[in-house]
Amino acid sequence: MIDVKLVVDLNRCQGYAQCVFLAPDVFTLHGEEALLYDAGPADGEREHVSQAAAACPVHAITTDLPVHHDGE
Ligand code: SF4
Repeated sequence: MIDVKLVVDLNRCQGYAQCVFLAPDVFTLHGEEALLYDAGPADGEREHVSQAAAACPVHAITTDLPVHHDGE
């Protein structure tokens, strides 16, 4: 199994927590805007990470997974 590659641009992140809602085992929000995340999430988190990347309103999440942006 290949781990998922994941990078969040924390300068872009506005703490909307969409990712935390969709992938709570990968993203954690501390306080208002301090996002912590697992940069090498397990393979089983693929779908969650992909959904989180698609849902981020400011597109701060970069991953090597296919990301489907609805309506774009
Ligand atoms: S959804 Fe995007 S803006 Fe919101 S906390 Fe996650 S990375 Fe940051």
